[in-house]
Amino acid sequence: MPESAEEIYVRVTQAVAEDGRLPMPPTHEWDMFPWEGDMRPKVVQPPLAEESPRVGEGDKPCWCAQDEPEQVIWRNERWMVRSFDKPGGLPLILILQPFEHFDFSDMDDEQAEEYGRISNWLHRIMEHMPNIGRVHVCKWGDGTAHMHVWFIARTARLPHIVGSMAIEWNEMLPPVPEDVWRADLKHVADHLATHDGEALI
Ligand SMILES: [Zn+2]
Repeated sequence: MPESAEEIYVRVTQAVAEDGRLPMPPTHEWDMFPWEGDMRPKVVQPPLAEESPRVGEGDKPCWCAQDEPEQVIWRNERWMVRSFDKPGGLPLILILQPFEHFDFSDMDDEQAEEYGRISNWLHRIMEHMPNIGRVHVCKWGDGTAHMHVWFIARTARLPHIVGSMAIEWNEMLPPVPEDVWRADLKHVADHLATHDGEALI
């Protein structure tokens, strides 16, 4: 049995300093850590009675109950790849998700097979683009119950802008020029459409 939140919280309260905070990890030794200077961890709060409802749970309706999301660049009958309304600092961040409302653990074998095929195509297309060093694939899902997987392309050869912290640089780097970003979105959508579905950009 994994430790409960209450058991972990007891260990936290035994480990904190007088100000109630845990010690900082040695981030100054981490090449990928984006920030310098004095930092301190937030004070860990006691456990909640239950998880907070996400969008698409309880009385929080999901977007799929009303209409399709905007910025869809590719789709087939069951899955879509969407972008955002404006570029960030990283070359491309795309979301792969189903039209039907289900979460990652709800996929049956057929849905998982198709998800696997599309994610493989998408990852390969993005990673083969000039100047892309790596594509990170992430599934969090703390905000929204509707399955959505992130495909995050980072630029090659930029020191520090790697690993899980690359996403933090999306907010700090100056945004990609709009025309470059749209051409890259079209490149991905067109190449996905050679496998299945249709490009919408
Ligand atoms: Zn939904």
